[in-house]
Amino acid sequence: ALQLMKIRKQFGEHEVLKKIDMNIGIGEVISIIGPSGSGKTTLIRTVNRLETLNGGEVVLFGEDFIKGGLSLNRQQVRSGMQRIGMVFQNFNLFPHKTALENIMLAPRYHGTTGNAELNRQQALFLLDRVGLLAHANKYPHQLSGGQQQRVAIARTLALSPDIILFDEPTSALDPEMVGEVLKVIQELAKEGMTLIIVTHEMDFALSVSDRVVMMEHGVVQADARPQSILKADNSTPELLRIREFMGIEN
Ligand code: ATP
Repeated sequence: ALQLMKIRKQFGEHEVLKKIDMNIGIGEVISIIGPSGSGKTTLIRTVNRLETLNGGEVVLFGEDFIKGGLSLNRQQVRSGMQRIGMVFQNFNLFPHKTALENIMLAPRYHGTTGNAELNRQQALFLLDRVGLLAHANKYPHQLSGGQQQRVAIARTLALSPDIILFDEPTSALDPEMVGEVLKVIQELAKEGMTLIIVTHEMDFALSVSDRVVMMEHGVVQADARPQSILKADNSTPELLRIREFMGIEN
């Protein structure tokens, strides 16, 4: 679904991403883990064009999406943008719009629907899907953090993306709300959605992902299946660091 080739990003002199290569298949669920400052968030922001690149290419479903750090024509970008959804750490809901309105606005911004009633029905369906139908007319401040994040996920789904990027979706939440959000993400994974999740939730990463990618100092330190990570021993020294980082006992 998505190929990253030699992705480079600098902030001033600071090289945050050093020629990152990554291949994500359709329906794959990838968790990206790593120490603070290793470049995880920057990586997914560049994929979604929220940051420009200093080099490298991104290919989306076989078509150039970003090339040599340069923008492609607007039409190509627009269709690509619609295929990639993003869920942020801090939900980014409109505070003066209800849950329902937040979701209904998404397709309108992207020009993907002209039919208001259809739009509304779809938004209600999506709210139901994340277990929040009863809260449709509440404003973000009337909802818990976990509920707000579920609205944000429903809003992303309203764009019918082919890939969803999650940037630490549970790190702004109180511990008791983490589970309800991870459950929604897990359901998307089961349904075969292609997901890239930057997370600090190690158990979740091991149980839900097809692959766990560990970044460190702007490079991919390890890219492995949970099974391989759990089974790693001295014969696979390249996986010992990721085990140590994930807190897996030897
Ligand atoms: P965390 O787990 O703490 O979110 P991360 O792995 O996601 O960390 P990034 O947020 O990608 O790390 O940041 C990587 C590095 O790039 C950090 O050193 C950060 O200070 C720097 N950085 C990020 N955004 C900018 C920016 N807009 N301008 C300058 N430096 C930045």
